[in-house]
Amino acid sequence: MESISNRRVSPLKMTWSMAKKEWADLLRELGQPTFRSKQIWQWLYAKGAQSFDEMTNLPAALRTALAERLSLAPWAPLETVADEGGTTKLLLECEDGERIESVVIPSGGEAATLCVSTQAGCAFKCAFCATGQLGLSRNLEAGEIVGQLFTARAATSFHIDHLVFMGMGEPFANYDNVLKAVRIFNDQDGLAIGARRITLSTCGVVPGIKRLADEGLQVELAISLHAPDDALRSRLMPVNNRWPVAELIAACRDYNAATRRIVTFEYTLVDGLNDTRLCASALADLIDPSFARVNLIPLSPVAHFDGNRPSPARCEAFAAILRRRGINVTLRHSKGSALSAACGQLRGEQGTGNRERGPGNGGKNVEL
Ligand code: SAH
Repeated sequence: MESISNRRVSPLKMTWSMAKKEWADLLRELGQPTFRSKQIWQWLYAKGAQSFDEMTNLPAALRTALAERLSLAPWAPLETVADEGGTTKLLLECEDGERIESVVIPSGGEAATLCVSTQAGCAFKCAFCATGQLGLSRNLEAGEIVGQLFTARAATSFHIDHLVFMGMGEPFANYDNVLKAVRIFNDQDGLAIGARRITLSTCGVVPGIKRLADEGLQVELAISLHAPDDALRSRLMPVNNRWPVAELIAACRDYNAATRRIVTFEYTLVDGLNDTRLCASALADLIDPSFARVNLIPLSPVAHFDGNRPSPARCEAFAAILRRRGINVTLRHSKGSALSAACGQLRGEQGTGNRERGPGNGGKNVEL
């Protein structure tokens, strides 16, 4: 805590990164009663204060002391691009120049889901994901994850009531900071975003799934599966060499047993590659409807990957095979592709938004 009490630090790296206990520690250091930490927490997260001066139930000297040490300066996006349906991609620059993206996805009326990034780049190199092409630069701080919500709120008029950790990066490769951010989002005295409105998505980092099962949180878990067998999955997702399909499915079953949450398997359909009838049957063999459901997402185009999105009829045929086996399936089309804001297209680059008008129809992952 010395670093906090002695110098002014970036709002993203520190202010929004601080857990409730860290606020209590700082206030103790400043000779203040600890109940002040709850007051500050409410100002920050329930009332959305943009400066310590607004915190009128704090003594003036404390407000000054905090403002000398911490900043609440907003994190302005470098670029904001929106399509007709309101899907909005925000390009953000971290203090050290790393660039990340968040996507606001309208879900009907004023409501929207925010898709947050957890790392600058990604180390996992899934074949069709643009972020994986970048390699990993670094983990984001909890504050850089929480800060994405404040930026998205300021940049759009939507009421963000759901969060998906499906932006750049692998959440379970940055486990501690991600969980810290989840607890800040979820805290009842603050933002109070319900755990069931928060989805963590992983490419299959099994130790992360196991840890999450023991957190006592009711967050939703999504698994990027994309293939029903080890041979094909290892070709598409190198992570499968480390944690193969059977181990991954077993961890998901255990997650369901511990939390009673139904696990969602994300399956990106690539024409002629993993969208065959054989793949559909093999997938149906893996998925037990009592603990899992399937989201099918036709491939979003990315420059480096030589594959196509299957025809709607092929996607529907794949879904039908799963449905006949009693599996809860949603066929979605990934929104935001005109902005390069769709699943797997986030590269943290400026000017990737192609502002051509397409048929605007709301959020990413809308049912077909
Ligand atoms: N690393 C985490 C979080 C990223 S979520 C994870 O893998 O789950 C982004 C989702 O988009 C993942 O399901 C990913 O596999 C999927 N995706 C990646 N590239 C895609 C593409 N070109 N088209 C459609 N979906 C893609």
